[in-house]
Amino acid sequence: MLIRNKFPGGVHPLTCKELTRNSFIEEIPPPQKVVIPLIQHTGAPCIPLVKPGEEVKLGQKIGSAEKYISSPVHASLSGKVSKIEEFNHPLLEKAPAIFIEKDKNSDSEMVQQKNPDDLSIEELKERIREAGIVGLGGAGFPTHVKLSPPKPIDTLILNGAECEPYLTCDERLMQEKPREIIKGLEIIAKIVSPERIFIGIEDSKRETIKIVKEILRELRLDGIEVSVLKTKYPQGGEKQLIKAITGREVPSEGLPFDVGVLVQNVQTAFAIYEAIYKGKPLYERVITVSGKAIKKPGNYKVKIGTLVSDIVEFCGGFIKEPKKIIFGGPMMGIAQWSLDVPVIKGTSGILFLTEEELNLEESGPCIRCGRCIEACPVKIMPAYIALAVEYKKWNIAKEYSPRDCIECGACSYICPTRRDLVQLIKIAKLRVH
Ligand code: SF4
Ligand code: SF4
Repeated sequence: MLIRNKFPGGVHPLTCKELTRNSFIEEIPPPQKVVIPLIQHTGAPCIPLVKPGEEVKLGQKIGSAEKYISSPVHASLSGKVSKIEEFNHPLLEKAPAIFIEKDKNSDSEMVQQKNPDDLSIEELKERIREAGIVGLGGAGFPTHVKLSPPKPIDTLILNGAECEPYLTCDERLMQEKPREIIKGLEIIAKIVSPERIFIGIEDSKRETIKIVKEILRELRLDGIEVSVLKTKYPQGGEKQLIKAITGREVPSEGLPFDVGVLVQNVQTAFAIYEAIYKGKPLYERVITVSGKAIKKPGNYKVKIGTLVSDIVEFCGGFIKEPKKIIFGGPMMGIAQWSLDVPVIKGTSGILFLTEEELNLEESGPCIRCGRCIEACPVKIMPAYIALAVEYKKWNIAKEYSPRDCIECGACSYICPTRRDLVQLIKIAKLRVH
């Protein structure tokens, strides 16, 4: 088996995936209430289309995207809008949101199902936009925009690397819904007409590689190649994936289309399949719930807008009090301070970590060991940028190109004195233009 590993740097954190890797996807029943933020994506917030007191149906569009870089939101419950006001947001602290209380009515509002062969490229993109699909790997960039690159694409990559520790939702979906994901990938291919198509999967996911290869054989899709990648963090970063599979390097501050590549996450491909073949907007997704504090870790299909408190209740509560709650993985995820926060489209996982799972040692001064520099996948100098920030030497910080940092956290992870390098580099990114 040819294993590709051509991106520099990277680290090998404990994966902790055994907690959920074998958990079949289970659906969490619709909660009594959902809170749907009007911004869940990169770009302009949505404008509410409903008012308090109004009845809504499952799948109904309740927030419209007026700008090109934006994405509509849909009701994930049939019920009544109880209010529209600011609420906790997992990434933005607070944001306006639509509250829906469930009722007995289980009507849904889907658009007509279609065979993608009967739709033009523009119609496919319009359906993807109207279904509210954004990058589900965490980035939340509107997919219809990504599918309209300003430069030609010759290589399409489906990102099945899922390199963040603990997370296994993409892996489970690839095992349980491979046909649907591949159909979604074919729709993307119809839109961007690439010459080559790859599905990138880390070599630690042997069962998944086997399943996906079997389906490709069965469907006689010889033009799609499974690219087996070395298990190394951050293998799932777009630029690292592109380097490992194609050998191409995305230029500093550039984007994948600059080197003729489009990368899409497996859950995004699945959402595209559902939008076109089933006429279903994006109002639910699969997430991993994990960590040693939660009683029943697993992979769950949840309605967008479900509160963490409802997920904790469904998972049987806590075995012990979590020391840290994270949305996403432990390397790039965002810490949360409340259980009153909703799942949004980009939520790939919720981790409830105990003290033993966290390294809470105090940080010390830099000992100039160089390990962070070796680990950095974009070949910048985290130690120097961090020192420049601490001394407020912004010109020096700028010389080391902090804006190329992908905030992967590999440098902080490897630092023997536990320096919070990512935090310092984020400050440099804000100060340096
Ligand atoms: S400097 Fe940025 S890109 Fe490099 S290892 Fe640190 S977080 Fe990752
Ligand atoms: S890994 Fe930590 S101690 Fe070593 S050079 Fe980087 S910042 Fe300094």
